[in-house]
Amino acid sequence: MIDVLSYLPVRRKPSASGWTSFNAPCCEHNGESRDRRSRGGIKTTSAGWSYHCFNCGFTASFVLGRTLTFKARKLLGWMNVPQEEIERINLESLRQRNIEGILSERQQLSNRLQNIEFEERDLPADTQPLNESAVEYLKQRQAPLDYPFLYKTMPRPGIVIPFTHDNQVVGHTTRFLDNRTPRYIQDIQPGYVFGTDLQGANWQYAIVVEGVFDALSINGLAVLHADVNDAQVRLIRSLDSEIIVVPDQDEPGMRLVDRAVELGWAVSIPDWPADVKDVNDAVIRFGKLATLITIMQAKETSRIKIELRKKQLVKRLRT
Ligand SMILES: [Zn+2]
Repeated sequence: MIDVLSYLPVRRKPSASGWTSFNAPCCEHNGESRDRRSRGGIKTTSAGWSYHCFNCGFTASFVLGRTLTFKARKLLGWMNVPQEEIERINLESLRQRNIEGILSERQQLSNRLQNIEFEERDLPADTQPLNESAVEYLKQRQAPLDYPFLYKTMPRPGIVIPFTHDNQVVGHTTRFLDNRTPRYIQDIQPGYVFGTDLQGANWQYAIVVEGVFDALSINGLAVLHADVNDAQVRLIRSLDSEIIVVPDQDEPGMRLVDRAVELGWAVSIPDWPADVKDVNDAVIRFGKLATLITIMQAKETSRIKIELRKKQLVKRLRT
């Protein structure tokens, strides 16, 4: 068995949230000064572990049954794990590969062939665990609190939402909590779709929405603007689910409807009250289950019916 905790320095502290913190070994390799305030954190699960540095922002993760990633190897090296030991961990991991691991590897291979690949990215430096006001904000937006959100104060206070793909961090967005613009900044790779890791293994439907909070509140997929580019289309199709596009109920959202029709995807424009503009508004107003029911009930696959529904909405938006 691979016990990553056995490689940590003696001075470490477990926390109630499952993170073990210790002096981060990464910062001095990333242009920051050496950490002496236990700002590195590692969280283990039955499936592996993930590491995050609250100082320099370095992240790395490991999934049992898969090969060690470039960043996981780097981290272990910085933790003074000898090279032979790193190779042994890698082999041990592959030996423990089960059917699921083989399937997920096959999926990864097919993704590679279809050019659906993202590089691992770091999160911003100087993040912190969520403070009370940030938790309050996330609760109010009905976001799942078990998602690995982080908080930062510089240059403005905001919530950092990691973008993951295959459970690895490949970007992020920050939602600022003051009322100034821009409200978001993003580190996003071309073709990225948020929320693939929120999908269940055998779900029949994938609900495609615009915003990250829309996706978080119903386990949907977010294309992160009112369009779906070709690389995103490939990624969404690779999930092999029936796709339902739920646009924001505004003018830009109608462009997303046109694109969905072009792609032959189902569209749902539920008859929500005028001040409910998107999925997240609906979840805040009606709850997750009721929102999902309105989405399923309003699902249309016929091009003509979708056009009619769109016209109705546009007319309402203009009055
Ligand atoms: Zn660091």
